[in-house]
Amino acid sequence: MTTEDEYKKLLERAREGLPSKTEPAEEVRFEMPKFESFIEGSQTLIKNFTDVARKFERDPAHMQKYLALETGARGELEAHRLRLNTAKNNAFLNQKLETYANEFVICKECKKPDTELRMVDGVPWIKCRACSAKYPIRKI
Ligand SMILES: [Zn+2]
Repeated sequence: MTTEDEYKKLLERAREGLPSKTEPAEEVRFEMPKFESFIEGSQTLIKNFTDVARKFERDPAHMQKYLALETGARGELEAHRLRLNTAKNNAFLNQKLETYANEFVICKECKKPDTELRMVDGVPWIKCRACSAKYPIRKI
């Protein structure tokens, strides 16, 4: 047996001693919430708007502002729904939701969604609960 073989054996043994590679619960991939919407005349109703905001732990008003900027249309919250003053299909809105999540929810360091949005001296910051990263983001 060469020293190399012995070394490999040793490595194998070391690996066997390690805990199995099952992922802990928090490693389970985050399931991106999706908008459920329909077009009504020249408007769009997002039925589960506040549900999605809650899953992201974001103020619905912040998400609403983002959609207004992206669509150039005004929106109005009606209980848990958002009425947008433009006709946009569900796929388009979910694309916007994804870009929103990437910019304002998902941590750019660890890619986890466990973040908080906080205002510090008028500047919005993302604070990640998973990896403790902190960084300022675009104000909308
Ligand atoms: Zn993080």
